[in-house]
Amino acid sequence: MKYFPVFTRIDAADVLVAGGGEAALQKVRLLLKTTARITLMAPNLNQELRALVAKGALRHVPRLPEPADLERQSLVYAATGDRALEESLFAAARARGIPINVVDAPDLSTFLTPAIVDRDPIVVAIGTEGTAPVLAREIKSRLESWLPANFGALGRHASRLRRRIAQRIRDPQARRRFWERLLNGPFRRAVLMGASAEAERVVSRELAGAARSLSGRVALIGCGPGDPDLLTLKAVQRLQEADVLIVDRLVNPQILEYARRDARRIFVGKTPRGPATSQAEINRLLVAEAAAGHVVARLKGGDPLIFGRAAEELAALAAAHIPVEIVPGITAAHACAARIGLPLTLRERVRQFSLLTGSSAEGLPDFDWRALAATDAAFAVYMGVGSAPLLRERLLAAGARADTPVVIVENGTQSNERAIATSLHDLSQALDAGEIGGPAVIFVGLDWAAAGLVRPASVALYRRPPVRQSERYGDAISISTEAIL
Ligand code: SAH
Repeated sequence: MKYFPVFTRIDAADVLVAGGGEAALQKVRLLLKTTARITLMAPNLNQELRALVAKGALRHVPRLPEPADLERQSLVYAATGDRALEESLFAAARARGIPINVVDAPDLSTFLTPAIVDRDPIVVAIGTEGTAPVLAREIKSRLESWLPANFGALGRHASRLRRRIAQRIRDPQARRRFWERLLNGPFRRAVLMGASAEAERVVSRELAGAARSLSGRVALIGCGPGDPDLLTLKAVQRLQEADVLIVDRLVNPQILEYARRDARRIFVGKTPRGPATSQAEINRLLVAEAAAGHVVARLKGGDPLIFGRAAEELAALAAAHIPVEIVPGITAAHACAARIGLPLTLRERVRQFSLLTGSSAEGLPDFDWRALAATDAAFAVYMGVGSAPLLRERLLAAGARADTPVVIVENGTQSNERAIATSLHDLSQALDAGEIGGPAVIFVGLDWAAAGLVRPASVALYRRPPVRQSERYGDAISISTEAIL
């Protein structure tokens, strides 16, 4: 960040605008939304500026400013088209510590004017540090359509209630949660509908019930496979409400940006074969934090109910009578399949699709291999990279076809995502050749051809070339690099 966003106080302050053309008019229009005292300095004004002066909206001095005119100004805008003058104003403003903006001259500006969504007293300012104003306008128009025109009424009501609520609810965390409820529920609807009496009734009712309803709770949040855009709206809401975040290793750190800055973060990463927080310790933490009255967000990769040890956490919370909400997330198999356009069921052909884990306390679990080896079996293996050679062996031994399609997606939806298509026969070599080390989903029994589709170009192909006759008896059976990876 080269520019630091702040809202600067400008009520009843003096602001100077130099220039009498369209650019000056735009700044004046913006400033007229405030209660600043505006002085416009320019020998000639365009028609609209003249009209504003005639209405008494601002003071006009019919000459260009000199450095001495900057005294006592809180902010200066210059749009005179006279570069030499603007350079001297810039130097004078700097020397006096007065913020100055010379229109279209970042080198002569100590501040930039953001794009603004105005729901006074709620104001959203959007900046691109001058790099791409078009993007700021896009964000602005989205926010404009998303924030109701009278959204500011919520801010005004809140301001009137602030003292009363602070007196009734002393604990700052409890107070913030009360505000969250108020500004999200029936009170918000009443205010936005303009029903002030109803809004007042809601406040009284909520204040009466506040003592009961503000105890700790836990949200078990599915954070998806990595791409923050795959978070649900509910996940984002719960993240923003949380006082404490208890975060799994596979959760993309970018997702934490959606939480409040002052929320406490506890990382409980379980690295395969590395340092780990035990499940018992995680359960204990969840219960302790919620019992202390905090709103806890338990962040898990993918979906919390899939290979996420949710059962243990839910049981621990239930035993402690702590309310829990489960927010589903997009599981790795679904996200990875979407990235590579791989249908997970096919009409008439794939009627069953299962999710398996490749890793358990005893290594690869003992599945019904005959069923998994059937020609129409289709499944995704989680945590299966380490046990893939054994999985391959078991499936082939149970009669699976060597050319059963296999697709591996590593780091799905992340910037380092990779996908490899291969066969069951070549699975182990494909994992080695592709040096698959990150979290990966292994799809077995599914490919594009069966669905009448073409393998996307982003998916590399690994096929071990047939061993040639002459090599068969040599001592080095080499895998030629014909395999495309
Ligand atoms: N609850 C999670 C799964 C946790 S188990 C979910 O629903 O997705 C961890 C396993 O998930 C990893 O070993 C890997 O198999 C899979 N996984 C998680 N994130 C992944 C990603 N971005 N790309 C591919 N696989 C992923």
